[in-house]
Amino acid sequence: MQPPDRRDHDRADKRQVGSEVRDEAASLQARYGGLEPELVIELCVDRLFAEEIAVVSSFGSQSAVLLHMISEIDPTLPVQFLDTGKHFSATHDYRNSLIDLLGLKDICIVEPDPALLGAADPVGILFVQDADKCCGVRKVEPMARAIAPYRAWMTGRKRYQSETRAALPVFEAVGERVRINPLALWSAQDVDIYRHVHSLPDHPLTAKGYQSIGCQPCTRPVKDGGTDRDGRWAGLEKTECGIHMSGFSQAIEIATQKGSG
Ligand code: SF4
Repeated sequence: MQPPDRRDHDRADKRQVGSEVRDEAASLQARYGGLEPELVIELCVDRLFAEEIAVVSSFGSQSAVLLHMISEIDPTLPVQFLDTGKHFSATHDYRNSLIDLLGLKDICIVEPDPALLGAADPVGILFVQDADKCCGVRKVEPMARAIAPYRAWMTGRKRYQSETRAALPVFEAVGERVRINPLALWSAQDVDIYRHVHSLPDHPLTAKGYQSIGCQPCTRPVKDGGTDRDGRWAGLEKTECGIHMSGFSQAIEIATQKGSG
């Protein structure tokens, strides 16, 4: 009989951890999934994942709400901003002004790996030929690298933004980690009221009809009656960049192995 391969043990360990994290996320969802966003953030930052959690922000049109809550609870929490190299210059300006306004202390700029980017997109037009591959090298790989050191991370996603987010939980398992969406249950009106009450500035492109703002080549204004994300990858089947999809957990594991190798 052949001795078990070390890799078989590793795979079994990962399945075990993945199963435990799924149970943990389901339990957190059942206990705390109905709490107000500020309470969810406080609970995660102070107790559930203290020192093991970050927040991911695109500094897009609705990012100010989650970032304001973070700034009130713990302005030293690491904020990961993915700089794809294809953002609107207005997003950079908005990011800088929000950081100053909110007093956020730990902004991490995450960029694509230069070697991978140079090989995959040497002249910067991969988004035309293969948007999934472009998102893979400009978004998925760098964000997986940024998330790998943490046990949990928060996003600003909300159910109302698109059909693909309609069942979004507050707590969800992503491989061996927990992703938290404190605003998942909020409506567009809730977001607007919060922004108004706290006098939060709009992203400069909001006034031009942009509702969900990502990379410049793949973002369009939304026509009246459209959902927030209708302006992303308009004309393509694509609705998400990959950092919110199932394959992201595998990307994190690859980044973790590289980081510890
Ligand atoms: S959103 Fe567009 S430009 Fe940005 S990484 Fe994806 S395909 Fe590339």
